[in-house]
Formats: sequence, C-alpha cells, structure tokens
Amino acid sequence: MTIVEKDAVASVHYTGTLPESGEVFDSSEGRDPLVFLVGHKQMIPGFEEELMGAAKGERRTFTLEPERAYGEKIPEAIQQIPITMFGDIAPEPGMTLMSDAGPFNVASVDGDLVTVDFNHKLAGETLQFSVEVVDVRAATSEEIDHGHVHGPGGVEH
Ligand code: ZN
Repeated sequence: MTIVEKDAVASVHYTGTLPESGEVFDSSEGRDPLVFLVGHKQMIPGFEEELMGAAKGERRTFTLEPERAYGEKIPEAIQQIPITMFGDIAPEPGMTLMSDAGPFNVASVDGDLVTVDFNHKLAGETLQFSVEVVDVRAATSEEIDHGHVHGPGGVEH
C-alpha cells in the first residue's frame, strides 16, 4: 500500500483555520483536491511532516506553530514607500499587489507614504489543518526529476 512519504504524489482535501478566531483562511472544499509531490518543498514544512505515513482515506488534524508554517513576521519586510511609486494604482489598506520583489500587502496609506508588508499574510500565525488524503501514489521517475506532479492537479510536462 502506498503511503504519504518522500517521492509520493498525494491528493488531499484540506481546511485551514486560525485556531484563535476560528476563521477559515483556505480550503479545498468545493474544488479539486490539492495534488503535490511529497518531499520537494512544495508545501510548508509542517504540512508534509504531519501527513507522513498516512494512507488513502486517512484524515488528520494538526496544529502548526509559525516556524513550521509560514515563519515569523520579519520587521524589515515592512517598508514605507512613496505613493508615486504606485503609478496608476490607488493603494488601499488590505490590497495585495505584485512587485519585482514578490507579492506584498498594503498595510496603511498616510498621505504620500504607503506602508507595505512583504511578509506572507500568514507569517506569525499558528495554523490548524484538517486534512483528508483522497489519493496517494508513487511518483514517476520523470516527476521526481522535474520536482512536480504531472497530469490531473499538476502540470503538463
Ligand atoms: Zn515536468
């Protein structure tokens, strides 16, 4: 029987909640399952660790502290930049925008200065996951070479 282990392809349904507020921050509910190649850093570290050894049909619930999820917030990743840098875009708090340095969130707008936060939205958060393994199979050698899944839920080649 194939279990979740390095170089397996796992298909999972999951719901992630913030334990303090109970808010659901992400879920595969109503979508196709999430498919990933295990052991190739496609997922946050704790997510894979907690699923190791699980078989098809198994459900697991676990809590991840920030260090096993999206890490702690880095103060240096919060910066103030002039509003003129935004060009045609009118930044508003809560917006997520893309830059050459990656995605960032607009924290606040104060006159001509915009405070932006390059931390992941879930940095510093403890996350709770409820996961059901809907399928697990061995990866092909080509998938292992490429470091990603081919076919449904993955890429073409
Ligand atoms: Zn490929």
